[in-house]
Amino acid sequence: MSTTVRFLALLLAATLLLGACEKTGPVHRGSFLAFGTFTDISIAGVTRQQAESAIEMLEEDFAIMHKAWHAWAPGPLTRTNNLLAEGVRFATPPSVLTLIQISKRLAQQSDDLFNPAIGRLVRLWGFQQDAVEGQQPPNNAAITKLLQANPSMQDITIDGIHAQSNNPAVQLDFGAIGKGYGIDLAIEHLKEVGIQNAIVNSGGDLRAIGSRDGRPWRIAIRNPSGSGPLGFLYLSGDESVFTSGDYERNYLWQGKRYHHIIDPRTGYPAEGTRSVTVIHNNATVADAAATALFVAGPGGWHRIARQMGIRYVLLIDSNNVMHMNPAMEKRIRLTDKSQLVEISSPLIDPEQQQK
Ligand code: ADP
Ligand code: MG
Repeated sequence: MSTTVRFLALLLAATLLLGACEKTGPVHRGSFLAFGTFTDISIAGVTRQQAESAIEMLEEDFAIMHKAWHAWAPGPLTRTNNLLAEGVRFATPPSVLTLIQISKRLAQQSDDLFNPAIGRLVRLWGFQQDAVEGQQPPNNAAITKLLQANPSMQDITIDGIHAQSNNPAVQLDFGAIGKGYGIDLAIEHLKEVGIQNAIVNSGGDLRAIGSRDGRPWRIAIRNPSGSGPLGFLYLSGDESVFTSGDYERNYLWQGKRYHHIIDPRTGYPAEGTRSVTVIHNNATVADAAATALFVAGPGGWHRIARQMGIRYVLLIDSNNVMHMNPAMEKRIRLTDKSQLVEISSPLIDPEQQQK
């Protein structure tokens, strides 16, 4: 045994011993690729076998969802988009119908800052493809043309299982909500098979239920500057944490970075924000809200968060100032205490505040 191997072996033994002292039940983990990122599942309070079969079950679920909501690979969503562009009345694929309904409500609550009807704009900017390196921004005339067509979720009428668009510019892109909805469905599926303590984490966006052997789950919040975690949150019960950041997908063109969150009012990547983290019980709402508040920016997030019923927000603006509501400030454990922080007025009236 080399010295390094012996050291590692000792370290492992010490870690296992420490675990035993804390009487921590094992956390079973598994991961797979879905929605173009790694999805990590952590499950506690069940046997290894139960956890493994649950992880397999979720891998299948995510593969189906990935296909159902893919914005450019041929499937139910591209078919839906073709029919929306034609303006005909059609039977909506079941995998798409609920997401349209939920999106209509969330778009309205966000003043259309979360607007999954802007698929054409997302495509024009080059974000409807796997790799974005080497892309260049579109010309201004093409952007203006799409803006003038003003695609909105409210242009789609739903009648039972049927849908119809009265605006041919509407093209759905569920990039800002699909992951959240997928995580909600995954958590419901876990509960159905008797799992009460778990985290479903897709590329840093997650929903956690129950606890880790009676202790809250500890969640790291990514720093948009990339240097270690910005802070930690402790979750117990049933909560989701979602972050939208300009670092997720972007490309460099003539010295300027263009990222994947588009401001539907300007047609350009939203300015003024580096990242937004939202806590909410429902992952679908958390996902849509993180995107909407990113677009709303330092001056607009508070009003939109109130409209969407969000109680915990952290926004980092382009000057690296952190904006939080008081309830979020109470919950987050910041690693760098010297960071400039601006605390807003409460998002909800103090007597309504839980936790
Ligand atoms: P991530 O996918 O990195 O978690 P988001 O949840 O914010 O980030 O989703 C960004 C994706 O949503 C984009 O790649 C695009 O597909 C789509 N999108 C971009 N801008 C908007 C917007 N204003 N409203 C709704 N969807 C958007
Ligand atoms: Mg989102």
